Amino acid sequence: MKLHDFPRYPLTFGPSPIHHLDRLTKHLGGASIWAKREDCSSGLAFGGNKVRKLEYLVPDALDQGADTLVSIGGVQSNHTRQVAAVAAKLGLKCRLVQEKWVDWDDPVNDKVGNILLSRMMGADVRLDPAGFDIGIRSSWEEALREVEESGGKPYPIPAGASEHRLGGLGFANWAFEVAEQEKQLGVHFDTIIVCTVTCSTHAGMIAGFAALQETVDDRPRRVLGIDASATLDKTRDQLALIARNTAELIELGRELRDDEITLLEGWAGDLYGIPVESTIDAMRLSASLEAMITDPVYEGKSMAGLIDLVTSGEIPKDSTVLYAHLGGQPALNAYSGIFD
Ligand code: PLP
Repeated sequence: MKLHDFPRYPLTFGPSPIHHLDRLTKHLGGASIWAKREDCSSGLAFGGNKVRKLEYLVPDALDQGADTLVSIGGVQSNHTRQVAAVAAKLGLKCRLVQEKWVDWDDPVNDKVGNILLSRMMGADVRLDPAGFDIGIRSSWEEALREVEESGGKPYPIPAGASEHRLGGLGFANWAFEVAEQEKQLGVHFDTIIVCTVTCSTHAGMIAGFAALQETVDDRPRRVLGIDASATLDKTRDQLALIARNTAELIELGRELRDDEITLLEGWAGDLYGIPVESTIDAMRLSASLEAMITDPVYEGKSMAGLIDLVTSGEIPKDSTVLYAHLGGQPALNAYSGIFD
């Protein structure tokens, strides 16, 4: 099946907005920088990248007659908050496993931000002491079993909706959306910057831009993933796997090359979820120059990557860069100490 033949349940306002970051561009003195905003493209509980992914999972869940969305993430997971939002909007139940992915000593870490919103939206939120892992977890499988045993019909959504057959479709379609917006704006983005953790955002983009190239002879571009998992080898393998599976699913008709799958390290720090100096500097810079708010777990790290790549000239001066802003701001409340 081709990408555009997959059913999509609308949960966003439409294409996410793209705008130029004038003051950041001027400050860095290099490439021209734009942002595409997944953080303000949906009215569902502050939106974010998962809403776009879930648009392709919802028809499958409804087809199967599921009554409970079951998912997993860290205590401050943006993903689980977006699953809770979609469940609320559809009138489904939601069961969430929230693991202790981040050892961040903030007294209200498990009370504010994303987890607060999920509770407000009626999700059954259960805390679990397990640490960070992007793979399939037994606690999630246990939650699925429990829903079934109590007479429910669970729909399984893995962490980040990534290891799901349809998880890459949302951002494969993002590539086509970008191409349409480029026509309207009269620009060509030769470099895309995206934060990578559970991988289906970046993987979907890779498959989508490859498909775009096949269909409309798209001009060359690089999709640069900035690792924020700090488990690089595992993430690189997962990225390649999901990119290739998505490419096959949308009938790309060729194998993805290794050089299409680029994951850069250097901005994650030592641990997932813990901001380092470059993260905080990047968050401060994008907030003070553009009022563009980024979080300490994901977007602050990809913004740090963008800043260094533009400043060092690794992204050349004549480039036009698109920064994929994937959301994540609600977690800021659980990191109040950073800007004391
Ligand atoms: N940015 C934000 C705000 C996120 O919530 C996530 C989710 O993990 C990511 C980036 C990374 O996306 P992915 O998990 O698809 O790699």
